[in-house]
Amino acid sequence: MGQNMSCISSNHHENGVFKAAQLGHLDALKLEFEDDPSLIFQFSLYDRNSLLHIAAANGQIDVVSWLLERSVNLDGVNRHKQTPLMLAAMHGKISCVEKLLHAGANILMFDSLRGRTCLHYAAYYGHSDCLKIILSTARTSHVALSWGFARFVNIRDGKGATPLHLAARQRRPECVHILLDNGALVCASTGGYGYPGSTPLHLAARGGSLDCIRELLAWGADRLHRDESGRIPYMVALKHKHGGCAALLNPSAAEPLVWPSPLKFISELNPEAKILLERALMEANKEREKTILKGTNYSIASPSHSDGGEIDDSLSEASESDLCCICFDQICTIEVQDCGHRMCAHCTLALCCHNKPNPTTASVNPPVCPFCRSNIARLVVANLSSETEDIDLNSSKLRKSRRSWNLSEGSSSFKGISAFGKMSARGSGRVSADELIDKPNE
Ligand SMILES: [Zn+2]
Ligand SMILES: [Zn+2]
Repeated sequence: MGQNMSCISSNHHENGVFKAAQLGHLDALKLEFEDDPSLIFQFSLYDRNSLLHIAAANGQIDVVSWLLERSVNLDGVNRHKQTPLMLAAMHGKISCVEKLLHAGANILMFDSLRGRTCLHYAAYYGHSDCLKIILSTARTSHVALSWGFARFVNIRDGKGATPLHLAARQRRPECVHILLDNGALVCASTGGYGYPGSTPLHLAARGGSLDCIRELLAWGADRLHRDESGRIPYMVALKHKHGGCAALLNPSAAEPLVWPSPLKFISELNPEAKILLERALMEANKEREKTILKGTNYSIASPSHSDGGEIDDSLSEASESDLCCICFDQICTIEVQDCGHRMCAHCTLALCCHNKPNPTTASVNPPVCPFCRSNIARLVVANLSSETEDIDLNSSKLRKSRRSWNLSEGSSSFKGISAFGKMSARGSGRVSADELIDKPNE
């Protein structure tokens, strides 16, 4: 074989190895290298991509691993100064992103196209899994020490766009959420990206994603912030004909509930309690949106519309003791510690949002338990009595049923939650009356 190949031009050899790296043909690649070990340092003709670039961009984890064992340049750049990590993040190749980060790839490199980092790439293309792992690497790496984690999250590209700007512009609500949760500044304004002085809310208005707008508003984005040409996000949404977004951004529309992130106990919430409260906040805001959007031609899509009716059957299954004593509408899902009193996520949120501190004053009065007035040390997920006791909070089934709860029509999630146990036990979002009567031990 070697003899045959040597007759062919070296260009052909190169094409061979790049093709093999792209397709993940590791054996073919090894054969080529036996023939000519220098091929490992080849670059592609036009973009000057290394084999590592090609393999990472195509998610060929075996090739990436093999190349890394041969100590190729981890942070080598192509013609556009893109690293293999950037290309893997751009294409959402999570296993390669993970491998490269683990091998110590530099997350603080900037390309020469738009001055963007791997974090920008993950946010722009909406790969939330890649975004998360880059952020968690940044927390523990030297970047956190030398640059500061908050600075990294808010890192700007050549035109002043932060990853949050890009995620908002490209309609990536999950990335918007993750970035905000990691300390992205909701009111950062750009230099030249979009229009000068745009906030993420301006760019979400331009992109037209209601979900992004809802996330940003819940984190306190300012509807009255003007860009350098004097436009508020509302005007941007109108200009781009996103009527539903404009309705929410209209400064005369009702204010949304805002997540009280500065409260100490909120920032230290356990993850499950936090998920419940965040969902409750989003539900409450969606309910407000309905009022705002009523009379316009826009409404919020509710994909699980039909589920609502089917869950009705299990309404009577709810145990009296699980009912929230404040609203008598929802199930207690949150427990106050140390006193142990319980209430629903909606009431907890109402309590916290009511006590939203003034950001200009340093002193924060944490809310107290509405039942006994003792200080709230922590909020945790309540263990429900009756049939839901055995639910593992980490199970994917619970997430599934939560999702259907979240999507259920209207803010009254009582029906959804009361069906919780049954739904989880069956791993299905639908429960019919007949199914409830049937017992497995027949
Ligand atoms: Zn309640
Ligand atoms: Zn209490």
